[in-house]
Amino acid sequence: MRIGVQLPDGLKKRAIEICEKLGDVILSGESCFGACDIDFDLLEDVDILYHYAHTSILKIEKVVYVPYFLDYDVKKICESLKKLKEKRIALISTAQYCHKLPEIKENLEKFGFNVELKKGKRSEYLGLVVGCDYSVIKDSKAEAIVFIGDGIFHAKGAVIYSGRRVYALNPFNFELIEVKVEDFIRERYIQISRCVGLKNLGILVSTKPGQKRLKIAEEIKRKAKEYGLRAIVVYISEITPEKLENLPFDFYVNTACPRVSYDDYIRFKRPIITPQEFDFLLGLKNYLEIDEIQIE
Ligand code: SF4
Repeated sequence: MRIGVQLPDGLKKRAIEICEKLGDVILSGESCFGACDIDFDLLEDVDILYHYAHTSILKIEKVVYVPYFLDYDVKKICESLKKLKEKRIALISTAQYCHKLPEIKENLEKFGFNVELKKGKRSEYLGLVVGCDYSVIKDSKAEAIVFIGDGIFHAKGAVIYSGRRVYALNPFNFELIEVKVEDFIRERYIQISRCVGLKNLGILVSTKPGQKRLKIAEEIKRKAKEYGLRAIVVYISEITPEKLENLPFDFYVNTACPRVSYDDYIRFKRPIITPQEFDFLLGLKNYLEIDEIQIE
């Protein structure tokens, strides 16, 4: 049996150790940013593909998602959260840390907290958020949302998505901060304002199955034409500055992974905004929303 292995960048340095444990395998050298990033060329040539550290978004034949959970101290997490003034909270986290959320909920409830812990549209685990899905906190009744994890991106997304107070708790140094999004919002307004007056629009559609949104792209094209823009839908597997280099567009609407617009925009010469931000640019919306992916 031929086995393929896909590792996210953070785990690639451990590739030899992981592959040797599995025996005779073929390692994917492609990028692996999320569960939607399947190496289909490798998949064709193997009987099973182990995709590490992301949770399943799509059921794909022969692909097995291998979780990569990191251990951390639940007792210390609860000690840190006890000082919150809000007693009705919602818990969220990322794929490496979400496995302990039910235990944290149980412990916090012993201290008198009321804890929401729900499952989102794109997640297998309670409380799990990914950069394109915050539905675990849709219609939340919590006074505050607590994000447990490292990095701040998902916590900022939660503030914009929910409009609520969000705290981020690092599970290793137990630092608890209230998350502010002014810098993120300011940067998004700057990117939108760079598009004002531009005429030639490239609408990017990813060919990755978990990100492909052709219907949304066609809707954007329709609106663009109504507003007198020249717009063309562009199919692309991975959106990189190099691939856009020779294209003649003044700006882009990215219908693929929203993190390309939010995290990587600085790498692109031309503005690269989300579908929601395009509506804002056209004056069809007067507030900013987080871009969420619904599979068509
Ligand atoms: S679309 Fe982006 S944020 Fe969503 S799962 Fe894929 S890589 Fe992650």
